[in-house]
Amino acid sequence: MPLPRKVPPIYVTQPLLPPLEEFVPYLEQIWENKILTNCGPFHQQLEQALCDHLGVKHLSLFTNGTIALITALQALQITGEVITTPYSFVATAHSLVWNGIKPVFVDIDPLTLNLSPDKIKAAITPQTTAIMPVHCYGRPCDVDRIRKIADEHGLKVIYDAAHAFGVRCRGASVANQGDISVLSFHATKVFNTFEGGAIVCPDAATKQRIDYLKNFGFVDDVTVVATGINGKMNEISAAFGLLQLKRIDEAIRKRKTIDARYREGLAGINGIQCLAEVGGDAANYAYFPILVQPDYPLSRDSLYQRLRENGIFVRRYFYPLISDFPMYREMPSAAHSNLPVARKVAEQVICLPIYPALPSTLVDFVLQVIEGKNVE
Ligand SMILES: *Cc1c(COP(=O)(O)O)cnc(C)c1O
Repeated sequence: MPLPRKVPPIYVTQPLLPPLEEFVPYLEQIWENKILTNCGPFHQQLEQALCDHLGVKHLSLFTNGTIALITALQALQITGEVITTPYSFVATAHSLVWNGIKPVFVDIDPLTLNLSPDKIKAAITPQTTAIMPVHCYGRPCDVDRIRKIADEHGLKVIYDAAHAFGVRCRGASVANQGDISVLSFHATKVFNTFEGGAIVCPDAATKQRIDYLKNFGFVDDVTVVATGINGKMNEISAAFGLLQLKRIDEAIRKRKTIDARYREGLAGINGIQCLAEVGGDAANYAYFPILVQPDYPLSRDSLYQRLRENGIFVRRYFYPLISDFPMYREMPSAAHSNLPVARKVAEQVICLPIYPALPSTLVDFVLQVIEGKNVE
């Protein structure tokens, strides 16, 4: 029997939103200059502000992360087969298929839950042109080993960095890794522009090609050089992003406090495993995954239900695996025997609520429900 609770439902995340009145002057400016899109002034300002904030050289804003992923693959002219992880949001593999590329699933590392470098080599064929790893939960991949394997085999690396806003590794933004990195600014992500995304690339020529591709291939009003798409971020989202940036560091600090409270509270509970902490600025605390082990009194799905009955709407990210969806599951690389670690983790994982406005009293309530207190 769930206990009656006076608090409203707790979701796995809640979007970061600035005070509404602070956004009004931005809207007034848009109404005044009547530029709503087409890489207007706010779009240009946000690109520069994000380059400065993240410490990256070239960044192109997009309407969302998925169109950015699809365009990134176009910009690098990726074809054939691409090695990727089954343990991610479905858009990772979908972006390949939208380019006529065959995803080849490779298992994950049991500690980091990122693509396992040990297993990449065996999946490389003459058709392989690239690797698309994901910094899962914002935790950096083994970027050095992935780079080395890619260089040895002449492959490109496209990072799906949708979770990794603000994460740093090797003393710089993790978005500097690979030939291209793609960010998502969806409402559920650490930094949001309602919907949005970006491609980070190392050189001006690639950025130029990406900018053509996201605007139908237009170079000027009479010249079209590529079969581009419409992927431009609009001015309202770009203006909103500028305002969001002012509070993003504070938002990540608040997430860190919640992460620490969960870790402390869960340390004493048998059968609940947290992922190892990643130090310092290599973390943005985007998610708080736990793995429910066999020595916990309930199965993963029973704990999931118990949390829901108590008004805590947790999510099982990432279950099912991408490779289990109907459009992928017949592929040889989707076979159960090929992905034992990903399969096991997908059966154990629950992501607990974490967002800047989550009060510590509610964190404690989540912990009590997991502990089995408050429950008949
Ligand atoms: C959110 C997400 C995407 C897609 O981003 P959108 O901005 O929602 O299109 C892609 N990959 C991963 C891993 C994501 O979590």
